[in-house]
Amino acid sequence: MTTVDKEALLARYAATKFDVKSLASSTDSTYFKIEAGENIARILPAADGAQPIIKVEKHFVNDEHGRRFGFNCPRMSKQPCPLCDYAWAARDRGDQDAFLSYKSKTQYAMYVIDRNSPNPRPLVLALGHKTFSEKLQPLLEQFSSDDALPWDIYGGCDMVLTRKADGDFGTTAITLMRGSSPLSADQDQLVEILSTVPDINDLRETPKDVGALVDRVAGVRYDAVKQLCEPDIVDVQFSDSAAFALTDGDEVPF
Ligand SMILES: [Zn+2]
Repeated sequence: MTTVDKEALLARYAATKFDVKSLASSTDSTYFKIEAGENIARILPAADGAQPIIKVEKHFVNDEHGRRFGFNCPRMSKQPCPLCDYAWAARDRGDQDAFLSYKSKTQYAMYVIDRNSPNPRPLVLALGHKTFSEKLQPLLEQFSSDDALPWDIYGGCDMVLTRKADGDFGTTAITLMRGSSPLSADQDQLVEILSTVPDINDLRETPKDVGALVDRVAGVRYDAVKQLCEPDIVDVQFSDSAAFALTDGDEVPF
């Protein structure tokens, strides 16, 4: 019979910390969150003069534990996507709810730093299609070819995102602070920030193992999706692709 040292056991658990923030998804910390009120962000330039804002198609789904996660649609890398097939098949049979929850959403993603953070580091700012095309894009179109664009490290400007109500994405207003200001007036800090900007193309990465990914999606089994969308899959020679071999334990890259 095992004897339990109750005091020692209680002491062990008495010291257990509970940090609500740590329960959030690990990807949360890499995203710039637009809070209610004024948020000031500086768009970071991409290396080698590349476009600093890229368009992505993203699926957002719940996993079997009810946690929300997102990943780039494999079609972005010209590969078949079982979730797109599933969504469009759902629409064909009149299930609008399933269609809307599984179809991909267009986002415009960029790296920014939070001007209100004492230790700025590159964060991903993702704007929905409507917010980007109606609010940021028209502002960018006002720049002439001679103007320094907002992400210019010396002559650029900050961006103010104002949200009236927390969580209400539709009410985000965007303005650009005209008048140039450097990314940082401190040369060392400027170098430090730029040396940590990730490759913008990382944001285009698509899952390497779509089967394992779909298996994580609540209520959608990869084999069921495959069966349901058989005609489409045959069309794109899905089963021939070595990229879709199912392997256990592989981390799904986002
Ligand atoms: Zn897709």
